[in-house]
Amino acid sequence: MPSTGTMFRRAVVLKCPRCGSRKTFIKHWLGRHERCRTCGIRWHREHGFELGPIALNVFFTFLTLGVTMAVALVLSAPDFKVVPLVLAIGATAVVVPLLIYPFTFTLWLAFDLVSHKPDERELAEADAAAGVSA
Ligand SMILES: [Zn+2]
Repeated sequence: MPSTGTMFRRAVVLKCPRCGSRKTFIKHWLGRHERCRTCGIRWHREHGFELGPIALNVFFTFLTLGVTMAVALVLSAPDFKVVPLVLAIGATAVVVPLLIYPFTFTLWLAFDLVSHKPDERELAEADAAAGVSA
């Protein structure tokens, strides 16, 4: 398995944390293949795995909303324009989760692979799915 830093660097640029391939489990933007199409590692490693990417998405979206609100309020002070503020914040709340959606999956897979290393059986299954001879 690659180092922790390597896996997170790969995940941030939407590569598979395990093998570093761009041909990973991300299907189009909002879909997912069952496994990385290069190394065969399953993204859904355990029941409830999706909660991790959801939590990451909520965290980064709320962080962006907070920054957007602070910047908008500072820039428009002291005469606050409510409609543009609400539109900017509403647009942020819709666009950011869609933009970061696949990244939350690769990042959470990196975190999961670091915190819960795959056993021999999982690695053999991944290699078999990828067509790698053992
Ligand atoms: Zn891979």
